[in-house]
Amino acid sequence: MWLDDPDSGKLVGRPIPDLAKTPFPTEIARYGAITPVMMGAKPGTPAFRHWVAAEALRRSADFWGDRISDGQWCKYPKLSVEIANGQAIDCYYTRGSVNIGLDANFPGGSIYAGESAEVVAHEVGHGVLDGLNPDVWDAGYVETAAFHEAWGDITAILSALQVPEVRAIVAASPSLYLKTSSSLSRFGEQVSKVLRAANPTHVEFNCVRDAARRFDYRDPTQLPAAASVDKLSTECHSFARVFTGAFLEILADMVGTQTDERGLIQTSANLGSMLVDAVRKAPVTTHYFAEVALALVSASSRYGGSYPDILSRVFVSRKILTNDQINRGETGFKSQALVPMPVVGFPPISAGRVSLPGKVFRLKRRVWIRAQPSCEESTRAAVIFARHLVARGDVRPFAIEAAFSSPRGFTHEIKIVGEELELVRVRTDCGLRGS
Ligand SMILES: [Zn+2]
Repeated sequence: MWLDDPDSGKLVGRPIPDLAKTPFPTEIARYGAITPVMMGAKPGTPAFRHWVAAEALRRSADFWGDRISDGQWCKYPKLSVEIANGQAIDCYYTRGSVNIGLDANFPGGSIYAGESAEVVAHEVGHGVLDGLNPDVWDAGYVETAAFHEAWGDITAILSALQVPEVRAIVAASPSLYLKTSSSLSRFGEQVSKVLRAANPTHVEFNCVRDAARRFDYRDPTQLPAAASVDKLSTECHSFARVFTGAFLEILADMVGTQTDERGLIQTSANLGSMLVDAVRKAPVTTHYFAEVALALVSASSRYGGSYPDILSRVFVSRKILTNDQINRGETGFKSQALVPMPVVGFPPISAGRVSLPGKVFRLKRRVWIRAQPSCEESTRAAVIFARHLVARGDVRPFAIEAAFSSPRGFTHEIKIVGEELELVRVRTDCGLRGS
């Protein structure tokens, strides 16, 4: 495999992965029962992409599986992964499967998203988080959609640190790799070339996203639906950078002076465990970043030492939490956690849904969306979320037949549920769309 991304230009050997291992078993669907031979698999070949993806799937699933022993995917026992070959479509997670499919003939050689371990790890991250808490996927809030993307990028960084060659590079120059823009902080270096050619303002000049680029928290209801890469918007990958940036600073400070390989392994393990704890405990609200941050501060107290101070300082300095919230141990926001949807039977109307005016979706009938009912703040957040989805063209127009497929990759659909219309999230659009 490439060290972390094909742009590294460095190939490293890795153990043969066992995709069927639990928890979090996966399968690469494209080849069915035929596994491409590993020997002689060269970069640029389908067999090479198979093994890069298989290794990255197993490594990232193992990172979370080591701290979620009973971990399961949200919908099916196995996560099915398709690595497209020669199809210029994007990368996404659909609650049952993952598609890694950005291939492009590009000046200087073909580019395949499937050759990037960090792209694969990001998609696994979506699946793990969805298994941990499906409400984060379903909720109609900017911050929950953004947290899903942040978790994907965090998965890519923490998984990269499980590769001995990556750790050795970071250990040799810890300030460079943990405190500034580096191959560790940059996501999707090579595939960004394709996206930059399509839209130069869509991505960084050297990657898709960079966790080292700092964005302090801002109220998403005050942000635009879309913006160039140097500004924040409500688009989930854009807003995710608030949390991913805080995560990288926390990782750097938790590593502190323990910059040897052992320190990096231990710190990444501790931070991973804290994140799992936090997602299990944080209520899914409109202010999800603050809820997770507060739960992380609480989880860090189990480890003692300087962890709680580090997390508190970073979250306060980035305006995700206030000192008062940390001292009180609660965010104090009015919005409440989503009521989980009943597993069996048609959900009662009041169970964690609100209906929005049809005009938000250019429809005559009201549309239900997953959000906390009877809460003005929550409804306002859901309206902004839905309006901005529509403005960006992320919602499949209702009049189009279900059989219609589009390279636009709609992330949401309006479905008829009983007598009602409901906005349903169908997939991610992992920021790799080239058009
Ligand atoms: Zn994503």
